[in-house]
Formats: sequence, C-alpha cells, structure tokens
Amino acid sequence: MYIIKAVNIASTFLLSKTLSEILSRRTKLEVIVDQKRLAYFKKILLKEKSRLERELKAIDTGILGQSQSELFGENSYEDHFADSATATFERERDLSLERNIKDILQRVNMSLAKIEKGTYGICASCGKEIDMARLKALPYADLCITCKKKEEESW
Ligand SMILES: [Zn+2]
Repeated sequence: MYIIKAVNIASTFLLSKTLSEILSRRTKLEVIVDQKRLAYFKKILLKEKSRLERELKAIDTGILGQSQSELFGENSYEDHFADSATATFERERDLSLERNIKDILQRVNMSLAKIEKGTYGICASCGKEIDMARLKALPYADLCITCKKKEEESW
C-alpha cells in the first residue's frame, strides 16, 4: 500500500516535471521563432523605408528641377502655356504619388515601432494575430484580413 502510494507520487512528480519542461522548452522555441520572424520583418521594413525615402527625395528633386526650368525658360507664350500645363499635370501627379509614398512610409514606421514595442503582427482592431501569409504580402498591414474586409465593406 505504501509502495503503491510512493510510486504514484513519484510518477505524478515525474509527469508534472516533464510536462513543465516540455512547456518551458516550447515557450523558448516559440520565442526564438518569434524573434527570427521579427528580425525578418524588421529587415524587410527597413529596406522598404529606405526605398520610400529615396523615392521621396527623387520626387522632391524633380519638382525643384521643374520649377527652375520654368523660371529660366525662354519659350514663346504658347510653348510656355503647353509646358506649364504639362508641368502642372506632372506636379499634380508627383504630389499624389508623394502623398501615397508618405502614407506608406508612415505605416512602415509605425510597424517598425510596433516591432520595438512587441506588438507587431497583432491586429489593431480585434487583437488577434495577423496571418503570416498576409504579413509576407504586406509587411506593414495593421489589420487582420477579417477586419480589413469589414473595414472595406463599411465604405
Ligand atoms: Zn482583426
């Protein structure tokens, strides 16, 4: 009777010890996977950030270049009119492009801040994890696909 009890206690102890070991090992592994994943997305986001900043700089230089050629141009009135119409169109296009780039850049920066805070990959609306495939396609996504669809439907 005593022996059986002792064995029971021993096996319960062993079982719980193994279980907690497995659990803690699993958590460690998950943390490693998580950190690798974060490092992966951080790299992508930083690359995207510098690409966007380069594009913004290129647009800025383009706009400056245009206004300079307008200032110093010696075209006839008609030529000038046609030129400035084109220039206006180009400037409008550049400005909307610039707005888009700034918008994406802001989202990229927010994602980078979330990586630092440890909230990256979590849906800003429902708090669930955002699907990996979605993050790979859109690393600066801040909504899960379900919430994104809901948002689009509400428009
Ligand atoms: Zn969501």
